[in-house]
Amino acid sequence: MSHAVEKIVRSEAEWRALLPPEPYHVLREKGTERPFTGALTENRETGSYHCAGCGALLFASSAKFDSGCGWPSFTIPADAMAIEEHEDLSFGMRRIEVTCARCGGHLGHVFPDGPRPAGLRYCINSASLTFTRAAE
Ligand code: FE
Repeated sequence: MSHAVEKIVRSEAEWRALLPPEPYHVLREKGTERPFTGALTENRETGSYHCAGCGALLFASSAKFDSGCGWPSFTIPADAMAIEEHEDLSFGMRRIEVTCARCGGHLGHVFPDGPRPAGLRYCINSASLTFTRAAE
């Protein structure tokens, strides 16, 4: 079933040439968009959320919930292999950073305050995602 994700490796100059400024800043410089500004934060459509860097499927709309935090929030990844988690001690906090397993792009963080049963909130920058509407 699950298999190791084939990595995409590009230089930062290549990423900069490929990506618009905001996705570049979030994905490659671990930026954070201002809350309640992302195009997908309030999106309620049925479909799938992909990495804006490499197109990998990351989250299904069925896992999206309204956390009120100002960023797209998901209870669970589409596939556990699609993301990687890393301890992040920046800004004097201990958080768990979430990255795309395929391209290494920064997506956001996961917090232990999501809905049951998993109790997780994947708090993901809208700029790191693209949305594909499900076929009718
Ligand atoms: Fe990616």
